[in-house]
Amino acid sequence: MGVVGRKEDYGDYGRLYDVIVAGGGTSGIPAAIAAARAGAKVLLIERTGCLGGQFSVSGPAGFCYAFLRNSRGQRDVGGFAWETYRKLFETGHALPHYLPEVRANSGYTFAYVDPDWWTQLVFDMMDEENVDLLLDTLVVDAVMDGDTIKGVVVENADGRVEIRGKVVIDCTGEAYLSAKAGVETVMLDEEGFPPHSLAFSVDGVDWDRFLMYVRHNPKQFSWREIQNDSVGNTKERIREFYANLTDIKQVGEIVGFYELRDAALENGDWHPHSGAGVFFTPKEGAHIVAHLQHSSQVSDCPPTSAWHITHAIRECRRQNKIAWRFFKNYVPGFENSYITKVATELRLREGPRIVGDYTFRREDVIEARLHPDVIGKSNFIADSQHVASMDTLNVIKSGKTLEKWPHHHGSYDLPYRILVPQKVENLLAAGKHVSADSAVYLRYIQQTMVTGQAAGVAAAICAKTGKTPRDLENDHEELQKVLVEQGAILYLQDPDTIEKVGHREED
Ligand SMILES: Cc1cc2nc3c(=O)[nH]c(=O)nc-3n(C[C@H](O)[C@H](O)[C@H](O)COP(=O)(O)OP(=O)(O)OC[C@H]3O[C@@H](n4cnc5c(N)ncnc54)[C@H](O)[C@@H]3O)c2cc1C
Repeated sequence: MGVVGRKEDYGDYGRLYDVIVAGGGTSGIPAAIAAARAGAKVLLIERTGCLGGQFSVSGPAGFCYAFLRNSRGQRDVGGFAWETYRKLFETGHALPHYLPEVRANSGYTFAYVDPDWWTQLVFDMMDEENVDLLLDTLVVDAVMDGDTIKGVVVENADGRVEIRGKVVIDCTGEAYLSAKAGVETVMLDEEGFPPHSLAFSVDGVDWDRFLMYVRHNPKQFSWREIQNDSVGNTKERIREFYANLTDIKQVGEIVGFYELRDAALENGDWHPHSGAGVFFTPKEGAHIVAHLQHSSQVSDCPPTSAWHITHAIRECRRQNKIAWRFFKNYVPGFENSYITKVATELRLREGPRIVGDYTFRREDVIEARLHPDVIGKSNFIADSQHVASMDTLNVIKSGKTLEKWPHHHGSYDLPYRILVPQKVENLLAAGKHVSADSAVYLRYIQQTMVTGQAAGVAAAICAKTGKTPRDLENDHEELQKVLVEQGAILYLQDPDTIEKVGHREED
C-alpha cells in the first residue's frame, strides 16, 4: 500500500524557496502564513514535531492573547492574532474577550483560546496557504555568500541537507540562525539571568469552591500587576473587585494565596523560587483547566548552554512537584484535581537578541513613540522583569515609582527596522529576539505575532521585487499597504483626543 495522504504535503530540498522561515512558534507561524498570502512560496522549518513553540509545545500560554487593547480601550492588535482568535471563537474554541473595568483599566485583559485547537487551526492554515512544512528538523547553519544569506543547513532523518531561499526569516526565538549568519547578538550576563519555567496543567478543579475562597479572602491575592492609581486601579478597588467576582474567568489569572503559601512554607510544603498563582485555559463547552506556568523558576541559565537548559528542566521538575502538592493539599477547590499535561520543553524567558538597524528602547514605550516604518502596535509596559522569588509575577527591578506605562495609557509603534539585522543581507528576524533592550523585550505572544506577520510580508515583497529587507526601511509603502490589507493595525486615533472607551464585559 502506498503512502496515505496528499502528495503536496511534501516539500522539495532542491527548490529555491522565495521565503524560508526557521522556527514554528508564535512568530514563525504568522510569518509563514503572511508571506504565503503575499504571494511567496514558503518553507517553514521546525525543530520539534509540532507547531506553536512556547504557545503550545512548552505552553499553553497563561495570559494568552492578552494586552490586545490599551488602557483607553482601543484594540491595537489585529492581523493574525485577531484573525485566529475570531476563528477559534466562532468555532467554540475560545471564550469571549472579558473586559471587566478594573482589568481593562490596566490593558491586562484576556481573549482566551484553547491551545490544542489553536495548534490544529495553524496546521489547517498551513494547508490552506500551501506552506511547505519540514518538522523534526533542526536548522544548524546559514548558507552564506559574503554577507548575504542564501539558505540554511538542516539536520533531520534525511541527514544534513542544504536548502536555498531568496529571503530567510529567523524565528527560532533565540536568534540561533542570525548568530550562525554572523549577526551580532546581545544577552544579559549569566549571573542574575532571568528565570525560565516549566509549565503544567491541572483539571478537576471545583471552580465554585475556589471562587468562594477568592471572594472571602480578597487580601490574600496580588494586586500590583494591575495597579494603576491614575486610572482608578487602587489597591482597595482591586480588592473590591476580587470580593465581588462572579466568574473566575473575569480575572484571567490570580496570584498570591499568601496565608496558605506562608503556612506551607513553614511546613516545608512550598519552595522559595516562585509565588503561588494560577491561570485559566478554556476547553470545549467553556470548561476551564488550571494552568500553572510560574510555579517553578530557575535563574542564571542562559539558553545558549545545553547544560544550563538541562539543569533548569531538572530543577523545574523538582519545584513543580512541590507546587502541585501545595495546590492539592492547601488550596480550596483543588482537592480532587489532577495533572493533565507537563510541558516537554522549558519556557525560556530571556535569551540572545539581534542587533538591528534600530534598537527598541524604553523611551519608545514611555513616550508612546510613533515611527514612519510602523508595522504594528503594542501597549505592554516597560520594565517587566521576572526574578526567581516568591513575588511570582513581574517584579520591577528598577523601582516601583519609575514610569512604565505608555504615554496617556495609549499604544506605541513597533518599527520595521527592529527586524533587520545589521550587516547581513536578505535575513529578517521576528519574535522575541528582535532588536530591543532588555527593559522592553518584545516577547509577549501578541507582539511576536505582529513582528512575525510583518517579517513575512516584507520577505515576500523582497522575494518578488529583488529588493533587500534593508531597502524596505525607507521604502515601506507596499509593506504597510499589504499589512493593512491583512488586517494589521498600524494607525490609531491619538488617545489624547478621545474619551476612554470604557467598560464592556466582552467583545
Ligand atoms: C514561563 C513563561 C510564560 C509565558 N507566558 C506568556 C503568556 O502567558 N502570555 C504571553 O503573551 N507571553 C508569554 N510568554 C512569552 C511568549 O510565550 C514567548 O516569548 C513567545 O511565544 C515567543 O515566540 P517566538 O516565536 O519568538 O519563539 P518560540 O515560541 O520559542 O518559537 C521558536 C520556535 O523555533 C523552534 N526552533 C528553535 N531553534 C530552532 C532551530 N535551530 N531549528 C528549527 N527550529 C528551531 C522552536 O522549537 C520553537 O518552536 C511566556 C514566556 C515564558 C518563558
